[in-house]
Amino acid sequence: MFRDRGVEIKTPDQLAAMRRAGLVVGRTLELVQSAVGPGVTTAELDALAEEHIRDLGAVPSFKGYHGFPGSLCISVNDQVVHGIPGPLVLDEGDLVSVDCGAIVAGWHGDAATSAVLGSPDETATEVEVLLRVTEDALWRGIAAVQAGGRLTDVCAAVEAHVRSASLPLGIVEDYVGHGIGSQMHQPPSVPNTGRAGRGPRLVPGMAIAIEPMITLGSPETSVLADDWTVVCSDGSWAAHFEHTVAVTADGPWVLTALDGGQQRLDDLGVRAGGPR
Ligand code: MG
Ligand code: MG
Repeated sequence: MFRDRGVEIKTPDQLAAMRRAGLVVGRTLELVQSAVGPGVTTAELDALAEEHIRDLGAVPSFKGYHGFPGSLCISVNDQVVHGIPGPLVLDEGDLVSVDCGAIVAGWHGDAATSAVLGSPDETATEVEVLLRVTEDALWRGIAAVQAGGRLTDVCAAVEAHVRSASLPLGIVEDYVGHGIGSQMHQPPSVPNTGRAGRGPRLVPGMAIAIEPMITLGSPETSVLADDWTVVCSDGSWAAHFEHTVAVTADGPWVLTALDGGQQRLDDLGVRAGGPR
């Protein structure tokens, strides 16, 4: 069912299918995180992910999406999002962002995580702050996914957390989060900046992908000649974290988190939705 402005409202059965897709994504990202490291190529990680997604009875949604060749987007260092897996050999100290999507019974899940490889030295301190702030900003946004609230409550929560960081960080505005359900990308757009209290009302059955893309420098981006890879225009490094989140009457249900988001939301004093 579609409401005003093309926002799709899912039935409980449809949200259950999205949870299955979300768990495939969450488990695949966990597997990739265990395999990523110095000496591994991004193509090897992609092959591992595709096999795992298909073994779980799901379809990798990125593969063939507008011609995208991989099952993962892997974006390294100054790459923000949409990096194409290939022969690149990952190295100690690289900042690696992995984005994964899967479809189960026609319903989508989409999530991303970032990490720095190897043991960080003192030059990596800024990267550690970037990673922590970006992931925490995602969870602040998730905590704002409350029935009866408004969409930009989420955007404002993400922005406020990034602006409160100990470093001046860039919030990418050229790319944003999105509604998700029977398609990977559908209304509404979910920016990572904004003033609270605006946009569509959050109602049970809505699902959104929240995905802050945060940089150590300017938020301006460019696209490489491969027509996919988004990089920071000033060469600074970027982090990207994402979850697919459903609005429920009980609170946010993080469909791509293995525990439904319970632990991280507990830490923020917010009740998680979904079965317990
Ligand atoms: Mg994604
Ligand atoms: Mg997304």
